[in-house]
Amino acid sequence: PRKELIVVTPTYNRALQAYYLNRLGQVLRLVPPPLVWIVVEMETVSVETAEILMKTGVVYRHLVCAKNSTDVKDRGVHQRNTALEHIEHHKLDGIVYFADDDNIYSLELFESLREISRFGTWPVAMLAQSKNKAILEGPVCNGSEVIGWHTNEKSKRLRRFHVDMSGFAFNSTILWDPKRWQRPTSNPIRQLDSVKEGFQETTFLEQVVEDENQMEATPPGCSRIMNWHLHVEARELVYPKGWLLQKNLDIV
Ligand code: UDP
Repeated sequence: PRKELIVVTPTYNRALQAYYLNRLGQVLRLVPPPLVWIVVEMETVSVETAEILMKTGVVYRHLVCAKNSTDVKDRGVHQRNTALEHIEHHKLDGIVYFADDDNIYSLELFESLREISRFGTWPVAMLAQSKNKAILEGPVCNGSEVIGWHTNEKSKRLRRFHVDMSGFAFNSTILWDPKRWQRPTSNPIRQLDSVKEGFQETTFLEQVVEDENQMEATPPGCSRIMNWHLHVEARELVYPKGWLLQKNLDIV
């Protein structure tokens, strides 16, 4: 039997949301089952998001994060935690992948996730806005081994693991490994909350793996780019006069 894929997406209403969620939903629809898409919003379950999810044809769970955070730096952290709690509580067995709504994903990526046994990572291509050039973030690999990291910005050199949120995936069994988390006092979910911007990924990884030896280069050699992290946002849009649009520009 094929491994279940558990795809976690934090989302919120803004102009490009309908475009992002439809794009991601259409890729997920092409992935052979079993796959569950856990979509998490912040304070309330919005009509805009619910309508898109219903139309995608993907098996999904639409959750809301009870935590009320106004800190923009959190960018989905509490929502991912809500999803982790859900996975843990319901003992969902599969490969967990954090897929932000605005990134671009290939079908090949989702096929590769099924090859992961415990923890897999790969390089993600991004655009460095300031320098207007493409950069890579993620592992340098030799066969199935991770032997180093692509690094870029100065501030980020202090990180232990140079991965993007969309550049790793892991077996959900890690979440209920009592040796690892010494629960109930230190569980991963709470530890993610107070992390400095830019350090969320490495802090999370430092809790789920000890070092590079416990990582699987996905696919072996890491020679392909399977997803792209672009920073495209449309803020403060001006709409055509007299038109009434949903908050996320979806068509109704
Ligand atoms: N996100 C969210 N609420 C926010 C900010 C971000 O739900 O207030 C989600 C967003 O939809 C995306 C993820 O968190 O799925 C990462 O956000 P973003 O792409 O803005 O962060 P960046 O990639 O720029 O760090």
